[in-house]
Amino acid sequence: MYGILDGTGFEALDPQFNDCLIGHARVERLWTGARWSEGPVWFAPGRYLLWSDIPNNRMLRFDETDGSVSTFRQPSQNANGHTVDRQGRLVSCEHLTRRVTRTEFDGSITVIADSFEGKRLNSPNDVVVKSDGSIWFTDPSYGILMDYEGDRAESEIGACHVYRVAPSGEITRVADDYVKPNGLAFSPDESHLYIADTGVTHTPGGPAHIRKHRVHADGTLSGGAVFAECTSGVFDGFRLDREGRIWSSAADGVHCLAPSGELIGKVLIPEMVGNVCFGGAKLNRLFICGTTSLYSVFLNVNGVSPLRP
Ligand code: MG
Repeated sequence: MYGILDGTGFEALDPQFNDCLIGHARVERLWTGARWSEGPVWFAPGRYLLWSDIPNNRMLRFDETDGSVSTFRQPSQNANGHTVDRQGRLVSCEHLTRRVTRTEFDGSITVIADSFEGKRLNSPNDVVVKSDGSIWFTDPSYGILMDYEGDRAESEIGACHVYRVAPSGEITRVADDYVKPNGLAFSPDESHLYIADTGVTHTPGGPAHIRKHRVHADGTLSGGAVFAECTSGVFDGFRLDREGRIWSSAADGVHCLAPSGELIGKVLIPEMVGNVCFGGAKLNRLFICGTTSLYSVFLNVNGVSPLRP
C-alpha cells in the first residue's frame, strides 16, 4: 500500500531505542497538501485523527477505516493544538480568535478561555486535560506575530505564559518564566508536567528545550528544570508513551527521549515536524504532522490514552 519513502528511517542512538521499533515497520506518508501541520488528536470511538493546517485555516480528518482525508472544519479560526477531554470531547486552541474552546456533543462550541485578568490571550498553542478535568494550555505569541497563522496584533498580556482552567472555570497562571511555551504533556501518572519552550525561534540564543515540573494537588507547579535540549530545531509538540518516554517533534523528525531525558533515537522525516500523537486501536501507531504531510509509523510502544481511567 505504501512504499518506502526517501528521507525516512530510524536512527538508534542507544540500543534501548531498538526495543521501541518493529523491525519491518516503515514510515508511511498518509496524505500531503498542507502548509503547516499541527495539533493531531486521535478519536478512538470513530477511528479517526483530526489535525490542523494552520495557515489554510482548516482542520483535516484522517479516517483510519478507509485511509481517506477530508476537511473537518473550515474556517477553523487558525486552530493549532487539540486534545480530547475526559468525556471524549474535542478541546482546541485557536489563534485567530485567541481562545481555547470545546466542541460539545451537539457540535456547538463553548469558550473555555479567551482572557486572563481582563486581557486577551495571545494565541493559545497547545492543550492537555488532566484526569481531574482541569485544562492546561500554553499561550505563546505565534498567532499574533504575523498574519500567516492568525491576525497580527500587539500582545495585551505582554508576555507568554502557561495557564490552567479549573473544572470551576477559574483560570490561573501556572508558569510565567517561559519565552515561548509550546507543547505540553503530563507524565503517565500525572505527577509531572513537561512543557516545551521554543523561544529560540524569535530570540537568538533563546530556549529550545523541554522543562519538567512537579504537579501539585492544588493545581500549582514547582521545579521546572531543563529536562532535555533539542539537538535539531525545536521541540514543538510531543506525547508520552506508557513507559514515560517522550516522543517529540524536531526539525529532522521525531526525537525519542528516555525518562531520564537522554535522546535515545529518532524517527527520521524528510520535513520539519510540528507535533505527534498516538492513535490506532492499541495506541501503538504514531501519527506525525510534518510540515506539508501526515505520516504514521507503527511502534512497539503504546501511547498514554487521554481517556485513561
Ligand atoms: Mg505547538
